[in-house]
Amino acid sequence: MGLRPNLLTRRTAGVASTTLALLLSTAAVGVVPAASAFSAAPARSCVEPADVHSDARVKAGAHAKHEPNELTAAQVREREADLAAVVAERARFRAGAGAAPLATVTIPVVVHVIQRDSTRAGGNIPDSMINQQISVLNQAYSGGTGGAATAFGFQLQKINRVTNPSWYPIISGSSAERSMKTSLREGGKNTLNMYLGELSDGLLGWATFPKKQLDKMDGVVVLSESLPGGTATNYNQGDTGTHEIGHWLNLYHTFQGGCSGSGDGVSDTPAEASPAYQCPTGRDTCATAGLDPITNFMDYTYDSCMYQFTPGQASRMLTAWNAYRAA
Ligand SMILES: [Zn+2]
Repeated sequence: MGLRPNLLTRRTAGVASTTLALLLSTAAVGVVPAASAFSAAPARSCVEPADVHSDARVKAGAHAKHEPNELTAAQVREREADLAAVVAERARFRAGAGAAPLATVTIPVVVHVIQRDSTRAGGNIPDSMINQQISVLNQAYSGGTGGAATAFGFQLQKINRVTNPSWYPIISGSSAERSMKTSLREGGKNTLNMYLGELSDGLLGWATFPKKQLDKMDGVVVLSESLPGGTATNYNQGDTGTHEIGHWLNLYHTFQGGCSGSGDGVSDTPAEASPAYQCPTGRDTCATAGLDPITNFMDYTYDSCMYQFTPGQASRMLTAWNAYRAA
């Protein structure tokens, strides 16, 4: 599948049995298969709740859901204008104060494990899965799986276990989600709060984009069984975390904007007409140069298929960090 050797070493688990495993995992989470030609294909997808700039990823049936996700062109224009303004403002401030932008960043991570009860089915995943998730993030963001090295590393500060059936599953955009985050969020804009649990609607995860003013909704929500060694077949090598944190660091999907315009705002990710699912090697949906970036962490392919950020994405994340999240 065009995967790099070092990637294959890390990613042998999820590649083998597809259809049966998919059905099992779909049944296990109670997702109703989508009534469309694509219903047999598991899919990542993102939804855009009305009240916050956030993003979500789903494991099955995305094509039949009211097409979700991603930001509208108007939302992207608004966010890009805001980023440009903040970058300019920061540059003026630095010219006076002499504070240099950061080149490397260690992100403190606070993990909240939301549980219904003390069983594994009730969300009680072991610490070892969380430690492996941090390791997957550090590999992905350092270029250790074959992509560009980014500025970012991740350091686990704390695992906070919370048993609260009214927050389980975590429902995107709900008042329970707001209550959970308001109660639990820790740290400043530079602190990554990860909320792990069962998620509503077959979602794999969702994230908030950075913005000027910190609010309590800031953070990343990830299906606990998508962590390395979890039960979410094809999505259990930790790259839901990698993908959602990409959004938290200001990346869009590689298919944002389709074939025309500024796309995802990154020049070295070839344009892509629509999300790619599974691992469609050789896919090429736009007349512009380059095959679809199906191996990019910001597409919707299987964990076993995605292994890289590009230098342009690394640069975009660092610019946004210094604009929005740096102390
Ligand atoms: Zn996404």
